[in-house]
Amino acid sequence: MELVFATNNQHKLKEIKEALGSEFQVKSLADLNYHQEIPETHDTLNGNAMEKAEHIHDRFGVNCFADDTGLEIEALNGEPGVYSARYAGENPTFDDNMNKVLDKLSGVENRKAKFRTVIALILDNQKYYFEGQVLGEILKAKQGNDGFGYDPIFKPEGFNECFAEMSLTLKNDISHRGNAVKKLVAFLKTI
Ligand code: IMP
Repeated sequence: MELVFATNNQHKLKEIKEALGSEFQVKSLADLNYHQEIPETHDTLNGNAMEKAEHIHDRFGVNCFADDTGLEIEALNGEPGVYSARYAGENPTFDDNMNKVLDKLSGVENRKAKFRTVIALILDNQKYYFEGQVLGEILKAKQGNDGFGYDPIFKPEGFNECFAEMSLTLKNDISHRGNAVKKLVAFLKTI
């Protein structure tokens, strides 16, 4: 079966291709020769993920899925949440976003946070959602050199190292996106 993943992120594409195996041919937006930015106008992860999937489904009439992720910090009432990519303004660097989080949590004891990913799938005109999360805490300072986004300040529960200090294999296995992908794969393998 052929499925389009509405992303231009090659890392995400590789991860999902490995998880799905050869029964599924996963194509990206580049394979469709589609290079425009897809709008994300909703204030929920479900809303944005489905908006991206619908955008591609409406244009190409293909079975497709899209994802959206947010970091939700308890002491900040769920911020940055759906605004994680642009928390510190338009086109911020990962450092800008992390510095804003660290500033806002300065002197705050409650460091509890979670990453949440929603995958929206449109298959034979039916819509489905798959959600994955990982609980953890925000460190007081950045650690490690790997990964991206908020990885240097997020330590998952039950581990001594933060995401930026972990192997990619371990991170993908326990992460929000990894957990959402596992649910999508389990579903697709039943059809
Ligand atoms: P996206 O929906 O996957 O583009 O994620 C939105 C934002 O959340 C990204 O720009 C990152 O700042 C952050 N983010 C998503 N996934 C991760 C992750 O695995 N580690 C750290 N930050 C992430």
